[in-house]
Amino acid sequence: MDQNKLAELIFPNLTGTVAELEVRFPKRNLPEGAYVTRFAPSPTGYMHIGGLYAAMISSRFASQTGGAFYLRIEDTDKKRELEGGVDEIIQSLAGYAIAFDEGPFPGGEKGYGPYKQSERKEIYQICVKELMRAGFAYPCFCTAKELEQVRKEQEEKKDDIGYYGAYASCRNLTYEQIKEKVDAGVPYVVRLKSPGKEEKHIVYTDPIRGKIEMPENRMDIVLLKSDGIPTYHFAHVVDDHFMRTNLVVRGDEWMASYPVHKQMFDLCGFEEPDFLHISPIMKMDGTAKRKLSKRKDPEAGASYYLEQGFPVESVREYLLTIANSDYEEWHMKNPDKKEEEFSLSFHKMPVSGALFDLIKLKNVSKEIIAGFSIAECERKILTWAKEYEPDLYQFADLHKEQFQETISLWKMSGKKVRKDVAKWSDLIQMFDYLYQPQEKFEQSVTYEIDEKYTKDQLREAVCAYKKNLFLDTDQWFEQMKALGEPMGYCPNMKEYKKNPEAYRGSISDLCTIVRVAVTGHKNSPDLYTIMKVLGEETVQRRLDHFLEQL
Ligand code: GLU
Repeated sequence: MDQNKLAELIFPNLTGTVAELEVRFPKRNLPEGAYVTRFAPSPTGYMHIGGLYAAMISSRFASQTGGAFYLRIEDTDKKRELEGGVDEIIQSLAGYAIAFDEGPFPGGEKGYGPYKQSERKEIYQICVKELMRAGFAYPCFCTAKELEQVRKEQEEKKDDIGYYGAYASCRNLTYEQIKEKVDAGVPYVVRLKSPGKEEKHIVYTDPIRGKIEMPENRMDIVLLKSDGIPTYHFAHVVDDHFMRTNLVVRGDEWMASYPVHKQMFDLCGFEEPDFLHISPIMKMDGTAKRKLSKRKDPEAGASYYLEQGFPVESVREYLLTIANSDYEEWHMKNPDKKEEEFSLSFHKMPVSGALFDLIKLKNVSKEIIAGFSIAECERKILTWAKEYEPDLYQFADLHKEQFQETISLWKMSGKKVRKDVAKWSDLIQMFDYLYQPQEKFEQSVTYEIDEKYTKDQLREAVCAYKKNLFLDTDQWFEQMKALGEPMGYCPNMKEYKKNPEAYRGSISDLCTIVRVAVTGHKNSPDLYTIMKVLGEETVQRRLDHFLEQL
């Protein structure tokens, strides 16, 4: 068949050529060894932690080699697209300090765009037209029903499933038959005419796994769907070539498609990039390892960590320990170096499922938070609260000093550096009684009252304290002792321990009762400071509420 004639029939008004595209998207002028990497999500509005992991690895390889990292939106499946999905991806990655050099955003269009696949239709078609001229592409008119028939036959014969060889009936259509169908408006896809042979093998060198032998591709996969939009396979080849990607970092579920991709790179005459197929993020479920699932695991979403208030530093640090087995050791040897100074390497990456352990992340995060200064904590908590904890943000805004005091209260209580907070929401849980508006506090409080105290005892103690708040003195404890003694609370703990029967309780009991009434909790940092933060009016309301609930 005259292939030129066929190409003109299928793409009648398409005049561009691959040679022109080569000029329009020239090789990048970068230093030797520099990697051009990309993050290529579909804009479905959901970012999996595995996507964040891949994006971080891609961005690191680009930055550590002086290359470029760009965002390409794979929006060929309009059904799965969500409005605002692109912004969400950019924001979500920015939340983890990952930025793009290029992409579909203001200032990001740097000559290798458009960066959205839906705007690159002509580029793909030019490439398909040229493949068709060379005899490596053809229109296929098979209906879903016919394809199902082929599949059944293959199942019966225990043959490989797919459109290939003798099963690929549209390969044999004549020009006249094709023209008749096209003129009649019969829908068609464009398929690759694979020259591959089953018995031939190709060798793929994976930087993590080494040499892998795979059978050559012989499937006539779809290049363009019936609406003229490419499949992932073809778009990947065209885009990564003309965007001049030289390192493709992607999930290892794509490794099986490598032979198809290699064949297309070869047939198009494009140089292949390097491929880094990264293993998925897994979790332990009982004794079994499984992939983190969007449906089952809230921690599968990249946004989960930001919502919970894990500092970005913690998540990045933990992802690096997963990405490179020697990162932790490097970090221990170089405690003062910044994470960016570590060079990621291919051969230290996990070969099979990378285990993501929330408990480990929390431990990493506790260390990191312990290292933040009070001022850093304040800044980070405020940034988090602004987005995710409006009550706290409002409290901090109205009562700046009290907010600062709260943070110091937590940071400074205890002799050692505190390592009890892995994420800002933990801290907030510890201090909910401090910043919650009174109404909210009243709705949510459960008083941790020890059964050894009788109702009368609690009422008596709280009423007595209510009359004498002593909030303007630093002699608070002394005054508490004086208040308690006539009610039978021994001011001296040693004394009390020697002869507990002689007393109603100790000064510590009295303080506990007041603490529970004010905060709901039987343990808290220094009560006097807490009450100063709350202020007299709130303390009075808390005591009243406690008495009402008795
Ligand atoms: N859009 C593809 C995906 O989300 C991208 C794979 C790739 O990075 O090439 O799986």
